[in-house]
Amino acid sequence: MRHIERLPEPAILKEKHDEWQNKFDQAKKQNPKARPDSTKYGNPKIRRNLEDCSYNKCFYCESKLSGSSKEIDHFIEVAIDSKQAYNWTNLYLSCSNCNDKADHNTIPVNTALDPCRDSDEEIQANITFEYEYICSQHDSQKGLNTIKKYHLGTDLLDMKRGKWLQKIMADIIDIQNRMRKDGRSLPTQDEQQRLKRYMQPDQPYSLMSKVYLEKNFDYLLETAYEN
Ligand SMILES: [Zn+2]
Repeated sequence: MRHIERLPEPAILKEKHDEWQNKFDQAKKQNPKARPDSTKYGNPKIRRNLEDCSYNKCFYCESKLSGSSKEIDHFIEVAIDSKQAYNWTNLYLSCSNCNDKADHNTIPVNTALDPCRDSDEEIQANITFEYEYICSQHDSQKGLNTIKKYHLGTDLLDMKRGKWLQKIMADIIDIQNRMRKDGRSLPTQDEQQRLKRYMQPDQPYSLMSKVYLEKNFDYLLETAYEN
């Protein structure tokens, strides 16, 4: 999870919000279990705007999203507050893993991290990684709640993060081999940038990469470099 800077509300949502919400309110009067219309809040223009907010990654787990794995999640459940159905700041882009609602009622949103509200510092103060495995930082309850609520510790995610970590490790080995061959003790600027790239928020699993690189390969990230 990284902090998401939300873009301005898409014009179509601004224009249609009241009309869509009224329709939903009416439907709820007929049937209290009615759901908001996913073709409306999932409008391509709204979807694209959400993708741009997160570089097309799941807001929760940082997996890159494609096709059917891409879902729009109501951060505050519509069953809890029906007025949140078409509220721009309540629409989050999510993968199917993180959008599974099973635990949403047992762990209220305000007891877990919120990628749109919480800063990167706050996120890192509560969750961290051991290699590809996510864990709560200093046994933080908020970290534990976040991992549980959004299923951030599933085998599937461990596997995906593990694969990504192998890619980073291959780059590190390559850089270390080059340094050895050239008799250098420091990386070049290009080599350093190659590793720092993984820590940028547009990259998948960037928080895991940041934690991994800073914990284990600090000397490859320092600003002094050889050319
Ligand atoms: Zn996810």
